[in-house]
Amino acid sequence: MECLFCKIVNKEIPKEFLHEDEKVLAFYDIHPKAPTHILIIPREHIESIVHLKEEQGDILVKIFSTAKNIAENHKLKGYKLILNVGKEGGQVIDHLHLHLLGGWSNKEERSINV
Ligand code: AMP
Repeated sequence: MECLFCKIVNKEIPKEFLHEDEKVLAFYDIHPKAPTHILIIPREHIESIVHLKEEQGDILVKIFSTAKNIAENHKLKGYKLILNVGKEGGQVIDHLHLHLLGGWSNKEERSINV
């Protein structure tokens, strides 16, 4: 499979992980759109939130709780959690991923588009 994020999961592409467990991984976005820009992804190849089955809800909980823990570790007082869904929604990589963005110092910088 030619999925970039599956290659990261399978360690075919070397990446420093901020978090790694049996369900999810977290790593820095290669083109950061905020002072702190981290991606949280499931190990399993799920194309997008649309393709997530109800019985896979534990994966979603794990993704969001990981984001919350990382934000705490980075001492982010506030942050944005963004899921791009489908091409029209700005999703470029077809492997579910949550953007964690934060660390801005002023309001203008917070107006981002990932
Ligand atoms: P999206 O537009 O929601 O599909 O976001 C995909 C994100 O993956 C973008 O913010 C990219 O900068 C990021 N990205 C692409 N390739 C890599 C990579 N090798 N390592 C880390 N992040 C990546």
